[in-house]
Amino acid sequence: MTAIQVFGHAWAQRLLRRAVQQQATRHAYLFTGPEHIGKTTLARAFAQALTCENPTREEGLGACGHCRSCRLAHEGMHPDHRVFEPAGQQLRIEQIREVVREAALSPVSSRYKVFIITAFERANVYAANALLKTLEEPSATTRIILISHQPSGLLDTIISRCQQLRLRPLPEHEIAEVLQSTAGLDAPSARRLTRLSHGRIGRALTMAQDPASWQSYDQRVQELDAILTYSPAQRLAYAQRMEKDEQLERTLQEWLLWWRDVLLMQYHVHDRILNQEHQALLAQQAQAVPTSQVRRFIRAILETVQYLRQNVNRRLALEALLLKVPEKP
Ligand SMILES: [Zn+2]
Repeated sequence: MTAIQVFGHAWAQRLLRRAVQQQATRHAYLFTGPEHIGKTTLARAFAQALTCENPTREEGLGACGHCRSCRLAHEGMHPDHRVFEPAGQQLRIEQIREVVREAALSPVSSRYKVFIITAFERANVYAANALLKTLEEPSATTRIILISHQPSGLLDTIISRCQQLRLRPLPEHEIAEVLQSTAGLDAPSARRLTRLSHGRIGRALTMAQDPASWQSYDQRVQELDAILTYSPAQRLAYAQRMEKDEQLERTLQEWLLWWRDVLLMQYHVHDRILNQEHQALLAQQAQAVPTSQVRRFIRAILETVQYLRQNVNRRLALEALLLKVPEKP
């Protein structure tokens, strides 16, 4: 059985399955929602169903999971499926031109040729415009699925030509169930990982495969607290170590969620706190650091994440950030 499995988003799966079965799919779709919640997986499963030789299953997206086409799709080798991702920081106009060129051709072996373009917010206005005509007058055998976690950055002309599916993070109980049934975690571990992954099923599954990454979380929390008492020299040394952190973006996301929790603690919104098991430390920091400093530091983390994506000097960005970590008396 090789049907691509999608966790959650039951309404979207149902909607797309019916469209496939009634041969009423649209030419272009736009899947939006936060990162790591399964947008690309949903798109791949949809592509599989669109090219399945016998899409009659009443589950998932409807792909049979047995035909040759389904097997190729599962392996990511289907000749009529093309996935385009940004090369570096941008979706290049050459990539979009390639989509336009290929979209005009007939499928190789299936009813449809399916194009999946991820992170479409990284297409600049020229690249986006290059796709407009294809979205407007598509060939009958072409299906295009755009994916974006920042649809506010897309041109209205693009959005209006697509059927938009707004996906949301999965409810905690659904993620915990998946972690238990497919990743084999016990109930307490599943609950903990669910909280750490913040409704992001993709992140939860990745973390489940790498237990060290989340089991060492407590240790990272201790470090995060220790920095508050570091001298400037110690902070700069820490920045130097962080520069080599291969999981830097994850670490900064953890910091962000942590300081958000400190803020929530200060606002007495306890039930929204993610780091439930670290309430005592959160309370201590919430007491010691003024709210204005917490807010300023959260902004600094967000800016640093942006800088790092723009390939600025990592060391300088991290040094500046570390010097802005609030001080605990
Ligand atoms: Zn099939």
